[in-house]
Amino acid sequence: MNLPNTNQKRIVIIGGGFAGISLAKKLKELDAQVVMIDRHNYHTFQPLLYQVSTSGLEPDSIAYPIRKILKELDNFYFRLANVDKIDPEKQEIFTSTGVLSYDYLVMATGTKTNYFNNENIAKNAMPMKSVPQALNIRSLVLQNFEKADDSTSEEEQKALLNFCVVGAGPTGVELAGALAELKHNVFPKDYTHLDISKMRIHLFEGGPRVLPPMSEKSSKKATEFLEKLGVEIHLNTIVQDYNDGIVTIRGGETMRSENFIWSAGVTGATIDGFKEEHLVERLNRYKVNSFNQVEGYTNIFAIGDIAYMETEDFPKGHPQVAQPAIQQGENLAKNFKKLLANKALNPFKYIDKGSMATIGRNKAVVDLHKLKFGGFFAWFIWMFVHLMALVGFRNKVIVFFNWGYNYINYDKAARLIVRPYKTKS
Ligand SMILES: Cc1cc2nc3c(=O)[nH]c(=O)nc-3n(C[C@H](O)[C@H](O)[C@H](O)COP(=O)(O)OP(=O)(O)OC[C@H]3O[C@@H](n4cnc5c(N)ncnc54)[C@H](O)[C@@H]3O)c2cc1C
Repeated sequence: MNLPNTNQKRIVIIGGGFAGISLAKKLKELDAQVVMIDRHNYHTFQPLLYQVSTSGLEPDSIAYPIRKILKELDNFYFRLANVDKIDPEKQEIFTSTGVLSYDYLVMATGTKTNYFNNENIAKNAMPMKSVPQALNIRSLVLQNFEKADDSTSEEEQKALLNFCVVGAGPTGVELAGALAELKHNVFPKDYTHLDISKMRIHLFEGGPRVLPPMSEKSSKKATEFLEKLGVEIHLNTIVQDYNDGIVTIRGGETMRSENFIWSAGVTGATIDGFKEEHLVERLNRYKVNSFNQVEGYTNIFAIGDIAYMETEDFPKGHPQVAQPAIQQGENLAKNFKKLLANKALNPFKYIDKGSMATIGRNKAVVDLHKLKFGGFFAWFIWMFVHLMALVGFRNKVIVFFNWGYNYINYDKAARLIVRPYKTKS
């Protein structure tokens, strides 16, 4: 790789997600060479991917160039590459564009979709972890509506308009709610000759309630909101297979659907080279100590979704959401300053700021420690928090304008099939 060899220590950060970016931003005055490697040249604001999938936002408004975010760092180098392997003993990483040595390595690679070893689902389902995947879902939804409008077969129309979302965590719930809004507010205006009541939205959940990470109260409220929007919720239901447009549920029940979206879980996006003992096998996350050092190493760190840190408050590791990733990045930045000055490191302490999910227009649920509420105020807070968290002033303005436009006009303007969908991107 083309990087200057200097006397400075080299810190390599793999991943420009919430964790990697929050770390790099705070390394401004550090006397070290900072290199970030990511397979995308942009940071993705994953919490709003579902709005790209459902035509509410353009992809550009939820992504931001990494070089631009970190332009103030003069000791900073970005490289667009996929990291394939790490050799912790030789302190080298192997990428799609070459080999690079490091003094300190930070794993901030996040997660990837977990299909639980189901080959058919991995091959045929639509995941939603990246901008291209969200665009694939957008194209799929719109293409299937176009086909349904042109179809003379009742059976085919039913399958094209049958939507299955698997996994009722925040992603599944938000996606199902947004699809229901398309059904009620947008598609009837576009497809005036199509019987829109044939569009059905199924939300499958293996557990006993929607939004398992949130409180029972918020879960109940979200269920009410979803049912009001006509979403058909199937609890304690395991989806076992999806092949040739047929969804099979454990127990044998089947249904036809041409829209099968998988949001049932994630697993760590680990990279080859570490020994098995460094991983929590079931979760594919790197075991780290309270300073985010990967067990067994003092110069390799893991932060964000990929890190597994057991603490008294979080005996099963921190939740895989944006806040722990951001806070771990910030704490590690402070620790790098201490490390280079030979001072003792600060242990990480997570400050839980609560959780929230939106189900659609005027409908959201918020858990703030003991305070749990839902409805218009929760929705307003949800919008404000997400708007403020977006990277870049331009993106904030565009998203604010789009939300205002969509709210006033009951519209979602990004209904474009710019390229045909692919099941994998
Ligand atoms: C659809 C969706 C909705 C979500 N909604 C919310 C929400 O509402 N609130 C919330 O708090 N959290 C939400 N999350 C979770 C949140 O996005 C994650 O917790 C957060 O992104 C974790 O940050 P990270 O930096 O650890 O990983 P990521 O943000 O996933 O970043 C990892 C980066 O590493 C790069 N990378 C990975 N492997 C390689 C490799 N081998 N080579 C090169 N680059 C690599 C990736 O391209 C990516 O840029 C959502 C997640 C998804 C998918």
